[in-house]
Amino acid sequence: MKITDRVYLAGGAGFGYSASGDCNVYLIDGGTEQALVDTGGGSGEKDIIMNVKKMGFDPKTITTAFNTHCHFDHVGGNHEIKKMTGCRIVVHEADRESIEERGELLLYDMALERGLEFQASKVDAELRDGDSYQVGDVSLEVIHTPGHTPGCMCLLMEEDGRNSIFCGDTAGANGRLGFINGPGFSLDDWKASLKRLISYEPARLYPGHNTFLMSYATDHLKVYDQKMNAPWTTIVTSVG
Ligand SMILES: [Zn+2]
Ligand SMILES: [Zn+2]
Repeated sequence: MKITDRVYLAGGAGFGYSASGDCNVYLIDGGTEQALVDTGGGSGEKDIIMNVKKMGFDPKTITTAFNTHCHFDHVGGNHEIKKMTGCRIVVHEADRESIEERGELLLYDMALERGLEFQASKVDAELRDGDSYQVGDVSLEVIHTPGHTPGCMCLLMEEDGRNSIFCGDTAGANGRLGFINGPGFSLDDWKASLKRLISYEPARLYPGHNTFLMSYATDHLKVYDQKMNAPWTTIVTSVG
Protein backbone atom coordinates (compact mmCIF):
# COMPACT_ATOMS: atom_id res chain seq x y z
CA MET A 1 0.00 0.00 0.00
CA LYS A 2 1.50 3.28 -1.11
CA ILE A 3 1.61 5.90 1.66
CA THR A 4 3.83 8.55 0.04
CA ASP A 5 6.13 8.69 -3.00
CA ARG A 6 8.88 7.08 -0.92
CA VAL A 7 7.11 5.07 1.77
CA TYR A 8 4.88 2.01 1.44
CA LEU A 9 3.20 -0.29 3.94
CA ALA A 10 4.44 -3.82 3.23
CA GLY A 11 2.90 -5.61 6.21
CA GLY A 12 1.13 -5.18 9.52
CA ALA A 13 -1.29 -7.38 11.46
CA GLY A 14 -3.06 -4.26 12.72
CA PHE A 15 -4.12 -3.47 9.17
CA GLY A 16 -4.90 -7.12 8.35
CA TYR A 17 -2.13 -6.75 5.82
CA SER A 18 0.06 -9.65 6.95
CA ALA A 19 -0.09 -12.48 9.48
CA SER A 20 -1.03 -12.17 13.13
CA GLY A 21 1.91 -11.06 15.26
CA ASP A 22 3.41 -8.71 12.69
CA CYS A 23 4.21 -5.13 13.58
CA ASN A 24 3.85 -2.55 10.82
CA VAL A 25 6.44 -3.28 8.14
CA TYR A 26 7.36 -0.35 5.91
CA LEU A 27 9.18 -0.26 2.60
CA ILE A 28 11.38 2.71 1.77
CA ASP A 29 11.85 3.22 -1.95
CA GLY A 30 15.25 4.62 -2.82
CA GLY A 31 14.69 4.23 -6.56
CA THR A 32 17.38 1.72 -7.45
CA GLU A 33 17.01 -0.17 -4.18
CA GLN A 34 14.59 -0.53 -1.30
CA ALA A 35 14.73 -1.13 2.45
CA LEU A 36 12.28 -2.66 4.90
CA VAL A 37 11.72 -1.20 8.33
CA ASP A 38 11.15 -4.23 10.61
CA THR A 39 10.33 -7.78 9.52
CA GLY A 40 7.28 -8.76 11.60
CA GLY A 41 6.73 -11.55 14.11
CA GLY A 42 7.93 -14.54 12.16
CA SER A 43 4.82 -15.83 10.40
CA GLY A 44 4.07 -13.08 7.89
CA GLU A 45 7.14 -13.18 5.63
CA LYS A 46 5.29 -14.67 2.66
CA ASP A 47 2.55 -12.03 2.98
CA ILE A 48 5.14 -9.26 3.19
CA ILE A 49 7.02 -10.42 0.09
CA MET A 50 3.75 -10.90 -1.80
CA ASN A 51 2.75 -7.33 -0.87
CA VAL A 52 6.14 -6.07 -2.06
CA LYS A 53 5.61 -7.75 -5.43
CA LYS A 54 2.03 -6.48 -5.72
CA MET A 55 3.31 -2.95 -5.19
CA GLY A 56 5.58 -3.43 -8.20
CA PHE A 57 8.93 -4.01 -6.49
CA ASP A 58 11.37 -6.85 -7.03
CA PRO A 59 12.21 -8.44 -3.64
CA LYS A 60 15.78 -8.90 -4.89
CA THR A 61 16.32 -5.12 -4.87
CA ILE A 62 15.54 -4.97 -1.13
CA THR A 63 19.07 -4.49 0.12
CA THR A 64 18.43 -3.74 3.80
CA ALA A 65 16.03 -4.72 6.57
CA PHE A 66 16.28 -2.45 9.62
CA ASN A 67 15.08 -3.57 13.04
CA THR A 68 13.79 -0.63 15.06
CA HIS A 69 14.42 -2.73 18.21
CA CYS A 70 14.79 -6.30 19.41
CA HIS A 71 11.20 -7.32 20.28
CA PHE A 72 9.98 -10.48 18.54
CA ASP A 73 7.20 -8.74 16.60
CA HIS A 74 9.84 -6.60 14.84
CA VAL A 75 12.63 -9.13 14.21
CA GLY A 76 10.85 -12.49 13.79
CA GLY A 77 10.96 -12.33 10.00
CA ASN A 78 14.70 -11.55 9.77
CA HIS A 79 15.84 -15.05 8.86
CA GLU A 80 13.23 -15.77 6.19
CA ILE A 81 13.22 -12.31 4.64
CA LYS A 82 17.00 -12.34 4.41
CA LYS A 83 16.76 -15.72 2.67
CA MET A 84 14.10 -14.50 0.25
CA THR A 85 15.74 -11.17 -0.64
CA GLY A 86 19.44 -11.39 0.19
CA CYS A 87 19.14 -8.19 2.26
CA ARG A 88 21.39 -7.07 5.10
CA ILE A 89 19.98 -7.02 8.65
CA VAL A 90 20.83 -3.66 10.22
CA VAL A 91 20.17 -2.82 13.88
CA HIS A 92 21.30 -0.54 16.69
CA GLU A 93 24.37 -1.87 18.47
CA ALA A 94 22.66 -2.03 21.89
CA ASP A 95 20.00 -4.53 20.73
CA ARG A 96 22.28 -6.59 18.49
CA GLU A 97 23.00 -9.42 20.90
CA SER A 98 19.34 -9.92 21.85
CA ILE A 99 18.44 -10.16 18.16
CA GLU A 100 21.20 -12.60 17.25
CA GLU A 101 20.77 -14.79 20.33
CA ARG A 102 16.98 -14.50 20.79
CA GLY A 103 17.94 -13.16 24.23
CA GLU A 104 15.68 -12.23 27.13
CA LEU A 105 14.92 -8.81 25.68
CA LEU A 106 13.51 -10.31 22.49
CA LEU A 107 10.67 -11.87 24.55
CA TYR A 108 10.80 -15.19 22.69
CA ASP A 109 8.67 -16.93 25.36
CA MET A 110 5.91 -14.45 24.63
CA ALA A 111 6.29 -15.18 20.91
CA LEU A 112 5.93 -18.92 21.53
CA GLU A 113 2.82 -18.32 23.66
CA ARG A 114 1.34 -16.60 20.63
CA GLY A 115 2.24 -19.47 18.34
CA LEU A 116 5.14 -17.67 16.67
CA GLU A 117 8.31 -19.64 16.09
CA PHE A 118 11.29 -18.42 14.14
CA GLN A 119 15.03 -18.79 13.74
CA ALA A 120 17.33 -15.99 14.73
CA SER A 121 19.48 -14.33 12.11
CA LYS A 122 22.96 -12.89 12.25
CA VAL A 123 23.12 -9.12 12.08
CA ASP A 124 25.12 -7.70 9.15
CA ALA A 125 25.68 -4.17 10.38
CA GLU A 126 25.07 -2.16 13.53
CA LEU A 127 24.34 1.53 13.77
CA ARG A 128 24.82 4.26 16.35
CA ASP A 129 23.19 7.58 17.10
CA GLY A 130 23.91 10.12 14.38
CA ASP A 131 24.95 7.59 11.74
CA SER A 132 23.64 8.14 8.26
CA TYR A 133 22.54 5.33 5.98
CA GLN A 134 21.83 5.51 2.27
CA VAL A 135 19.07 3.53 0.54
CA GLY A 136 19.41 4.42 -3.13
CA ASP A 137 18.76 8.15 -3.26
CA VAL A 138 17.11 8.30 0.18
CA SER A 139 19.26 9.43 3.12
CA LEU A 140 18.35 8.23 6.59
CA GLU A 141 19.72 9.42 9.91
CA VAL A 142 19.79 7.24 13.02
CA ILE A 143 18.29 8.61 16.24
CA HIS A 144 19.02 6.36 19.22
CA THR A 145 15.89 6.40 21.41
CA PRO A 146 16.39 4.02 24.36
CA GLY A 147 13.53 3.43 26.79
CA HIS A 148 11.21 0.79 25.34
CA THR A 149 14.40 -1.29 24.86
CA PRO A 150 18.03 -0.14 25.23
CA GLY A 151 18.64 -0.30 21.47
CA CYS A 152 15.52 1.37 20.08
CA MET A 153 16.45 3.18 16.90
CA CYS A 154 14.40 5.70 14.97
CA LEU A 155 15.11 6.60 11.35
CA LEU A 156 14.79 10.18 10.22
CA MET A 157 14.20 11.06 6.57
CA GLU A 158 13.16 14.17 4.72
CA GLU A 159 9.98 14.12 2.66
CA ASP A 160 8.69 17.18 0.82
CA GLY A 161 11.07 19.37 2.82
CA ARG A 162 9.79 18.19 6.20
CA ASN A 163 10.90 15.55 8.70
CA SER A 164 9.44 12.05 8.76
CA ILE A 165 10.38 9.54 11.45
CA PHE A 166 10.13 5.75 11.53
CA CYS A 167 9.76 5.39 15.29
CA GLY A 168 9.17 1.69 16.01
CA ASP A 169 7.52 1.33 19.42
CA THR A 170 8.98 4.53 20.87
CA ALA A 171 5.80 6.42 19.93
CA GLY A 172 2.60 6.16 17.93
CA ALA A 173 -0.60 7.99 17.13
CA ASN A 174 -2.65 9.68 19.85
CA GLY A 175 -0.06 9.21 22.58
CA ARG A 176 -1.11 5.63 23.12
CA LEU A 177 1.52 4.03 25.33
CA GLY A 178 2.99 0.72 24.28
CA PHE A 179 4.57 -2.10 26.24
CA ILE A 180 6.36 -0.36 29.06
CA ASN A 181 7.60 -2.85 31.62
CA GLY A 182 9.63 -5.43 29.73
CA PRO A 183 13.24 -6.36 30.46
CA GLY A 184 15.60 -3.54 29.56
CA PHE A 185 12.84 -0.93 29.87
CA SER A 186 13.74 2.49 31.29
CA LEU A 187 11.10 5.16 31.83
CA ASP A 188 13.71 7.90 32.32
CA ASP A 189 15.42 7.03 29.04
CA TRP A 190 12.07 6.87 27.25
CA LYS A 191 11.08 10.33 28.51
CA ALA A 192 14.34 11.78 27.22
CA SER A 193 13.95 9.97 23.89
CA LEU A 194 10.51 11.49 23.34
CA LYS A 195 11.86 14.97 23.98
CA ARG A 196 14.50 14.31 21.36
CA LEU A 197 11.93 13.16 18.81
CA ILE A 198 9.86 16.29 19.47
CA SER A 199 12.95 18.43 18.84
CA TYR A 200 12.94 17.26 15.19
CA GLU A 201 9.36 18.55 14.81
CA PRO A 202 8.34 15.70 12.51
CA ALA A 203 5.34 16.16 10.27
CA ARG A 204 4.99 12.44 9.59
CA LEU A 205 5.37 9.47 11.88
CA TYR A 206 5.59 5.83 10.84
CA PRO A 207 5.14 3.81 14.06
CA GLY A 208 5.46 0.09 14.66
CA HIS A 209 1.78 -0.34 15.52
CA ASN A 210 -1.54 1.21 14.66
CA THR A 211 -1.94 4.05 12.24
CA PHE A 212 0.78 6.21 10.74
CA LEU A 213 0.48 9.99 10.72
CA MET A 214 0.63 12.07 7.55
CA SER A 215 1.00 15.44 9.30
CA TYR A 216 0.85 17.06 12.76
CA ALA A 217 2.93 14.20 14.17
CA THR A 218 4.65 16.51 16.67
CA ASP A 219 1.26 17.20 18.32
CA HIS A 220 0.86 13.47 18.93
CA LEU A 221 4.37 13.21 20.39
CA LYS A 222 3.59 16.04 22.79
CA VAL A 223 0.69 13.99 24.20
CA TYR A 224 3.22 11.29 25.16
CA ASP A 225 5.47 13.86 26.69
CA GLN A 226 2.61 15.18 28.84
CA LYS A 227 1.47 11.68 29.86
CA MET A 228 4.93 10.51 30.79
CA ASN A 229 5.67 13.57 32.86
CA ALA A 230 2.28 13.81 34.58
CA PRO A 231 2.43 13.62 38.41
CA TRP A 232 0.32 10.45 38.29
CA THR A 233 -0.95 8.03 35.69
CA THR A 234 -4.40 6.53 35.72
CA ILE A 235 -4.55 3.02 34.42
CA VAL A 236 -8.00 2.22 33.09
CA THR A 237 -8.88 -1.34 32.32
CA SER A 238 -12.00 -3.39 31.87
CA VAL A 239 -13.12 -6.93 32.56
CA GLY A 240 -14.63 -9.14 29.87
ZN1 LIG B 1 8.45 -3.35 21.20
ZN1 LIG C 1 6.02 -3.85 18.73
